[in-house]
Amino acid sequence: MALPSPHLSEIPAEGLRLTCTAQSDELQLKPVDARVSGELGLSIEIVKAGRAVHVSGTLAGTFVRQCVRCLNEYDELARIPFTADYLGEEPPAKPQPKRAKPRTEEEAADAPIEDEEEPYSLVGDRLELAEMLREQIILATPMQPLCREDCRGLCLTCGQDLNERRCDCPEEQQESPFLVLRKLTEGTPKRPRG
Ligand SMILES: [Zn+2]
Ligand SMILES: [Zn+2]
Repeated sequence: MALPSPHLSEIPAEGLRLTCTAQSDELQLKPVDARVSGELGLSIEIVKAGRAVHVSGTLAGTFVRQCVRCLNEYDELARIPFTADYLGEEPPAKPQPKRAKPRTEEEAADAPIEDEEEPYSLVGDRLELAEMLREQIILATPMQPLCREDCRGLCLTCGQDLNERRCDCPEEQQESPFLVLRKLTEGTPKRPRG
């Protein structure tokens, strides 16, 4: 069963449970968002609550990631739980309050993802799940994918994959900037005392 877009009238009072599969192109998922190997498995529960519809479930699939250290591709089996609310009425077209742009990348990473709370709109009393699922996949995509926690990365001088073998370059040049960065952050604990 491909990705459904159930009509409000098809959702009984006790809710609707769906199990289906979806292809990444059904979700308008672009390679820059996430690359999927095979199809995605979906288990969805849809419950009406007044004018709103509450959707929850899990999305499972194999994602093809590229390690930021060694640049090799690897498969990651991921199960992504999600919840979303849909509103029956078109939300009033009020201007969104403009938030000040975060100044640094670190601040951007710390900023809460407020869009998660935004309800989706029913389109002609139908639940369009594709866009919501696409956003859930993007939110669950790691910023710094690693093929494994202790990946040694590439030699910055000769490009040798140091997971395969060491090269003859001087020792201090074989550390990837990520390892150096991790050592720095491990040296300065950020957690408040007490
Ligand atoms: Zn790697
Ligand atoms: Zn080298």
